[in-house]
Amino acid sequence: MPDIGRLVGEYAQMVVDARRALHRIPEMAFAEKKTSAFVEAYLEREGIPVRTGIAGTGLVGLLEGGKSGPTVMIRADMDALPIAEETGLAFASVHEGMMHACGHDAHMAMALGAASVLNRVRGDIRGNVKFVFQPAEEGPGGARPMIEAGVMENPTVDYAIGCHVWPDVPEGTIGVRAGPFMAAMDRFDIRIIGKGGHGAMPHACVDALEVGTQVVSALQRIVSRHMNPLEPAVVSIGSFHAGAAFNIIPQEATLSGTTRTFNEAIWASWEQRLHTVLRGVCAAMGADYELTFVKGFPPTVNDDTVSEVVRRCAEQVVGPEHVVEPARTMGGEDMAYYFQRAKGCYYALGVKREGFPAVHNPKFNFNEGVLRLGVETHCRVALELLG
Ligand SMILES: [Zn+2]
Ligand SMILES: [Zn+2]
Repeated sequence: MPDIGRLVGEYAQMVVDARRALHRIPEMAFAEKKTSAFVEAYLEREGIPVRTGIAGTGLVGLLEGGKSGPTVMIRADMDALPIAEETGLAFASVHEGMMHACGHDAHMAMALGAASVLNRVRGDIRGNVKFVFQPAEEGPGGARPMIEAGVMENPTVDYAIGCHVWPDVPEGTIGVRAGPFMAAMDRFDIRIIGKGGHGAMPHACVDALEVGTQVVSALQRIVSRHMNPLEPAVVSIGSFHAGAAFNIIPQEATLSGTTRTFNEAIWASWEQRLHTVLRGVCAAMGADYELTFVKGFPPTVNDDTVSEVVRRCAEQVVGPEHVVEPARTMGGEDMAYYFQRAKGCYYALGVKREGFPAVHNPKFNFNEGVLRLGVETHCRVALELLG
């Protein structure tokens, strides 16, 4: 095995520079044009063949090893958030109202660093490493269209890995968790249709606002009264709009929300459960309803064997005392789609430090010293999986 730690050190500054360059030019979902051009130019300089324009702005670099074998995919997401940056950094966003506040700049830089390092040892590699840069992780999701465009084939991906900067895990620490790690996430929109009229004459109306309040509380009973309390699940209503004046009974109410779970059976049951509650409450109150349920990302489930490889490799990078099992999160991640096709592990790169706010905050930042830990872990895992 070549001295991966030393090679990673040689590229550490290049990785930091790439992160800063990408941080300056954050772009929104499916509009990552400058970002895509930067990644393409980097991989071309390395002499790694690149396919561009996948699912719009996505791209894939393919490193073919000196010997034949399986294929490992290293995935990075490319999109930024609609947040006005307030870090005051010298390399802060030059795109007004947009910011890499979720660390996707770091994810890309680490994947590029891993490409440089693995390229140096390509003659010893048995198999291939695919570097997948996907758009739109923050929504609506770029993984699925990338898969539909064939990124899991030619050559077929056997293993998929990736990591996210993780504000719940201390800096210098790496988190690995086998099994369900992130939740399935869906969106729903409800329209309650009543009969509007004068505020003084409720008997002549069907009050959509009042029906809406009963719907909100009845939906909360799905989890608290109908589900096994040992299975985590969430129903959250994020918006509720009804009415325009103090003396008018509203004709309509609109609500929207999200459901979350790790459990495939619960995930499959949400839409029917919502219908049951809506049908019953609305029938009792004389209202009608419409429900639009949009199934989102599946649960992100880490494969046991690959997770064990990541844990062992992370121990070599940061020491066994700095590898932890992070808590599961009800947040979602479209890495999950790749795991439906290939065994994989999505791990957590600790960035927690006093005074650094978490992701999606206009002051989000992290110590760039952690980047080399991610690069080295990516490389070691890829080489180990390829034997
Ligand atoms: Zn995010
Ligand atoms: Zn993210």
